[in-house]
Amino acid sequence: RSSAGPSSPGHSGAEALSSPAAACRHEESSASENQLFDIIISGGGMVGTAMACSLGLDPNLAGKKILLLEAGHKKEMDGVPETYSTRVSSISPGSATLLSGLGAWDHIANMRCKPYNKMQVWDACSDALITFDKDNLQDEMAYIVENDVIVAALTKQLQTLSDHVKVQYRTKVVKYTWPRPYHVSESIPWVQVTLANGKTLQTKLLIGADGPNSMVRREAGIPTVKWNYDQSAVVAVLHLSEPTVNNVAWQRFLQTGPIAMLPLSDTESSLVWSTSHQHAEELLQLNEESFVDAINSAFWSNENHSEMVETAGSLFRTTLSVLMPDSGSARQLPPSVAGIGPKSRVMFPLGMGHATEYIRHRVAIIGDAAHRVHPLAGQGANLGFGDVAYLTKVLSQAAFNGKDLGKSMQHLLEFETERQRHNLPMMAAIDLMKRLYSTNAAPMVLLRTFGLQATNALPPLKEQIMAYASK
Ligand SMILES: Cc1cc2nc3c(=O)[nH]c(=O)nc-3n(C[C@H](O)[C@H](O)[C@H](O)COP(=O)(O)OP(=O)(O)OC[C@H]3O[C@@H](n4cnc5c(N)ncnc54)[C@H](O)[C@@H]3O)c2cc1C
Repeated sequence: RSSAGPSSPGHSGAEALSSPAAACRHEESSASENQLFDIIISGGGMVGTAMACSLGLDPNLAGKKILLLEAGHKKEMDGVPETYSTRVSSISPGSATLLSGLGAWDHIANMRCKPYNKMQVWDACSDALITFDKDNLQDEMAYIVENDVIVAALTKQLQTLSDHVKVQYRTKVVKYTWPRPYHVSESIPWVQVTLANGKTLQTKLLIGADGPNSMVRREAGIPTVKWNYDQSAVVAVLHLSEPTVNNVAWQRFLQTGPIAMLPLSDTESSLVWSTSHQHAEELLQLNEESFVDAINSAFWSNENHSEMVETAGSLFRTTLSVLMPDSGSARQLPPSVAGIGPKSRVMFPLGMGHATEYIRHRVAIIGDAAHRVHPLAGQGANLGFGDVAYLTKVLSQAAFNGKDLGKSMQHLLEFETERQRHNLPMMAAIDLMKRLYSTNAAPMVLLRTFGLQATNALPPLKEQIMAYASK
C-alpha cells in the first residue's frame, strides 16, 4: 500500500492520455462487422473496466469472446501525475479486495492511494457527532483513490488479457436492437450493437455499464425511479496549512448539505462539498482566498448552533455518559486549509436513481447505470464493484453449467435479487440521511442530535454500520 504524495521522488511522470495514434494502434483489437461476441460491455468507466477484467480472469469463461466498448479515450499512466485529480473515491475494504483479486490493487498501490483509519461526522446545528475509528475496527477503514488511478490500474491489467478480452476506445454505441425472446424463428437471435462509425456488432449478452444516463437501460425500456437533488457537489484538491498525520475522513452536515474533507497525503486533501446549485456556482466564482475562507468556516463555524438544541443535546450526552461511561468520543477539528490545487474546482449536479430491474433477456446493467446515489456516504462506485463481483459469479456458474449466458434467466435473476437486496437498503439509508440533514427545523435537529449521539455511544451498532459499508 502506498500513500506517497505527489512530490515524492520517482513520481514525476505525467498521465499519458492516449493519442489518436495510440487509438489507431488499438485497431488490432477492434471487432469486425457483424462479429458475434459472447459478452459486450458497454461503458468502460471504473465499473465497466473492472467487469471486463473480472470476466477475463474467470477460468470458466476462458473460451468466451468478450468486448469492452468505451466512448472516451484510453486512460493510461506511465507514472504518477504531479498533481492530484479532483475526482477521487473512497474505496471500501471489500472493493479493495475485489481490485486486488483482479490484480489491479498492486498497480494502485504503486501509483498512489491513501488509507484512512478514522472518520468523524458531525452536525453544524449542534454538538452531535459520531466517530468511527481503529478502536472499533481492526484494519484500515477505507482508501481514497483517484478515479483515474483506478481506471489506469484496471486498464493495465486488461492488457494482459488481450487474447480474449478486446477493448475499443473512442467508440460510442448509438443504437441497440433487441431480439424478441420467444421468437425462435427470429433471423438474428442476438443483441445488435450499432456503433457511431456505422459498424454493427452482435452479442449473446450485453452488460450496460454506461453510467447514470445509461442508454442500455433506456433502450431496454427498464423502468427507473429517479429524482434530482436540489444540490451540486463542488470538488477540489486542498492544500493544508501544515503537514499532518492525515488519516481521518471528515464530514460535517451543514444546512445546505454535507461538506467532506478526505485525506490524499500529509499535506493535501480532497473536498466534496454538496450544496445548493446557486451556492455551488458562487463557490466556483470566488477567488482562491475567499474560497479557502469559506471552506474553513464551513468546518469550524458554530453560527448555526441553537441554544435549545445544545442544552438538550448536552443533557442527553451527560445521561449517556452516566449509563455508558466509556462510550462516545471528543469532537476534533479538521486541519485548516491554506490553498487549492491549480484549476481544481469543478461542480457536478447530484441525483438519485434506481432501475427497478437489473436484467432483461440478454441484458444486465451494473454500476451507476443501475443505481446512482448521493456522494455523502462514498458508496456509488463500491456498489458498482459489488455488482461486478456478483455478476461474474453467476456468469461463471452459468458457463460451468454449459448455459447460454444471455438466456440463463435463473442465473441473471439470482444476480438481480442479490444485488437489489444489498443496494436498496443502502440507497434508502443514504437518501434518508440526505433528507434528515436538509433542514434546521428544531424537532428534526433534536431528533438527529439524539440519534447521532446514541449511535456514537453504542460501539456494537457502529461496528455493524461499518461492516455493512465496508462490503
Ligand atoms: C462528487 C462525487 C463524489 C463521489 N465519491 C464517491 C466515493 O467516495 N466512493 C464511491 O464509491 N463512489 C463515489 N462517487 C460515485 C462514483 O463516482 C460513481 O458511482 C462511479 O463513477 C460510477 O461508475 P460507472 O463506471 O458505473 O459509471 P461512469 O463513471 O459514469 O462510466 C460510464 C462510462 O460509460 C461510457 N459510456 C456512456 N455511454 C456510452 C456509449 N453510448 N457508448 C460507449 N461508452 C459509453 C462513458 O464514457 C463512461 O466512461 C462519487 C460521485 C460524485 C459525483
